[in-house]
Amino acid sequence: MSDLAILMPCPSGASAPYATPFGDAHVQERVLGGRALALIEPGDDPRAGPWAARALGATRLAIVCTGAALNRLLRPLDWLLPDDYVDQTRGGPTTYFTERGLGYVQQSPAFCPELRAALAAMPERPDARVFDRGTLVAAPAPRPETPAEARWWRGLGGDVAAWGAQPAAALARELELCVAVACYVVRAAGAADDAWLEAPEVERLLAALVAALPAARGCACGEALAAARARGALEMDWWKVLSV
Ligand SMILES: [Zn+2]
Repeated sequence: MSDLAILMPCPSGASAPYATPFGDAHVQERVLGGRALALIEPGDDPRAGPWAARALGATRLAIVCTGAALNRLLRPLDWLLPDDYVDQTRGGPTTYFTERGLGYVQQSPAFCPELRAALAAMPERPDARVFDRGTLVAAPAPRPETPAEARWWRGLGGDVAAWGAQPAAALARELELCVAVACYVVRAAGAADDAWLEAPEVERLLAALVAALPAARGCACGEALAAARARGALEMDWWKVLSV
């Protein structure tokens, strides 16, 4: 059982397929700083990763992704921990409550303040600054954004454009998980140069997160669907109904 799960595209090291009602996710279980972690590589369906986190016992989900800087103050190798987002994804599943009308979860704040604070404990380096607020534009596809998209999303108030954070984060909120995003800037938006998410940087982030995260949750994320449960629309463990 891991109370903390990390959703990221390609964790280093071997991972094993983990069956979910939405296809396989891939999971690598680790112990770091005495804490059990589940590193989860999302499946093709964005519902698979958050569901796997919940099924593994996680109460918190940190999403690690790469992004392109829309804000000209950001530069490659910086980390941005967004406190808000604009969702530009389209066409994919956006809720676990298809045809049930229950996937109504407050999005203010958009991410868990407690989990964001723990991510922000990562020490800065001259070449890897940490910004603890900003707006993430969730890109609709993994391809790089065009210059016109970069201009448009900058006009929407975005600081960074990234693929993979949504709809996973909103889905995780439906599972009453704490969720926050750590975005590693790999290029300026609309530019051709590119870089990879560096494994040592991820390890640095995880070590700081594990050290800073309180053992017990002090936030309201675990009650995101309390109103639906209180009126009898949801069972306590409703998500198990979706089991494999
Ligand atoms: Zn929370």
